[in-house]
Amino acid sequence: MIKFLDLQKVNLHHQVEIEEQLLEVFRSGWYLLGEKVKAFENKLSQYIGTKQAIGVANGLDALRLILRAYIEMGIMNIGDEIIVPSNTYIASILAISDNGLVPVLVEPEINTYNLDISKIEEKITPKTKGILIVHLQGRIIFSDKIKEIAQKHNLKIIEDNAQAIGAEWNGLKSGNLGDAAGFSFYPGKNLGALGDAGAVTTNDEELAKTIRALANYGSNQKYVNIYQGLNSRLDEIQAAVLNVKLKYIDQENNIRREIAKRFINEIKNPAIILPENPKDENEHVWHVFVIRSERRDELQAYLTEHGIQTLIHYPIPPHQQEAYKEWNTLSFPISEKIHKEVLSLPISSVMEEEEIKKIIEVINRF
Ligand SMILES: *Cc1c(COP(=O)(O)O)cnc(C)c1O
Repeated sequence: MIKFLDLQKVNLHHQVEIEEQLLEVFRSGWYLLGEKVKAFENKLSQYIGTKQAIGVANGLDALRLILRAYIEMGIMNIGDEIIVPSNTYIASILAISDNGLVPVLVEPEINTYNLDISKIEEKITPKTKGILIVHLQGRIIFSDKIKEIAQKHNLKIIEDNAQAIGAEWNGLKSGNLGDAAGFSFYPGKNLGALGDAGAVTTNDEELAKTIRALANYGSNQKYVNIYQGLNSRLDEIQAAVLNVKLKYIDQENNIRREIAKRFINEIKNPAIILPENPKDENEHVWHVFVIRSERRDELQAYLTEHGIQTLIHYPIPPHQQEAYKEWNTLSFPISEKIHKEVLSLPISSVMEEEEIKKIIEVINRF
C-alpha cells in the first residue's frame, strides 16, 4: 500500500537529531516560553525574512490572533468584512468569523485553485478591511495587482501560509508578502511538528507585540493583563522538533518539486487534468498534488484497489457546510466543481522511486 503520507518515515528520517532535542527539553525542566521557542522564532523569522516570528499553538490560532490583534489595535472592528477564497480549508474562514468579522467569499481560478484576483474589487465595500490570501496546495497567490488593490482601499493583506512554507515570489518568501502571516506546523504540513503548532510572522512590531500578549492571557508582564486574551503558546517540545526540521525544509520541498515534475510530465490520461507548474517553480512547494477528473470517485476507488491511498482536499465547500447555514443557498460554481472533481495523490519527501513509478503507471492505465 502506498500511503498518502508516511509520517512515521518522514520523522524517522531525522530520528537521531529529534530524539536528542526531545531529551534535552525533557531533562531541562522548562517546557513553555523558553530557549527552544526563542531559537525557533529567531530561525523562522530569519528564514522567512520578517522582523518578527511568534510561536503559537496551531495554525488556526495564528490567523485568529492576527485578526484579534487588529481589532485590539483599532484597525478592524466587529462586523468588518474580510475577503477570503471560497474554496479554502475551513480554518481560514473560522479565523474570521470567530472574531466577529464577516468572511466575504471570492471564487478561485480553476487552473491554479487560488483566489481569482480579478474578482476581488467587485466585493469591496466601505466595511472591507482585509484580504486573507491562502497559498492553497503550496502555491503562492500574489501579484502587484493585489498590492495595488490593498493600497487603494486601505486593506490589510493577511497570508494563510499553512500550506506553502518555503515558497517564493520574486525572491520574497511566502509569509513576507503581506502585513502578517499565519503558519501551521500540523504534523502533515511540509514543516510538521509532533502535534499541534503554529506561528505568526510580520514586519509590524506593534502587531507582533499585541499578538504576543494576546496569546499569553493578554499579558505582557506576569499577572498584569491588558487584553482579554487567550492561551495559545508553542510548546518547547514542538519548537525543539521544528528547530531540527526547519533546516531541511528547502531540501524536502525540492524533492516534492521533482516528484511533481515527474507526475506532470509522465501522467498521460485524457480523463485526468493535471495541475500546472508555475512559470517560476519557486512559487510552488507542492504541499499536495491535486488532479481533477469528472470520474473522481471512480478513479479514487480504482487507485485504492491498486494499493494507492488518495485524499480529497476538500469534499465539501465551506459555503455548503452546516456550520455556515446562512450560505447554503449561495452559489459558487467554480468552487463546487473543484470540490466535486479534485483528488490528491501521494507526495512527500520520503517517496521511493518505485512508488512514483507505480502511481504514474496505474493512473495511465485508468
Ligand atoms: C492546516 C491549515 C490551517 C489550520 O492549521 P492548524 O494548525 O490545523 O490549526 C489553516 N489554513 C489552511 C489552509 C490549512 O491547510
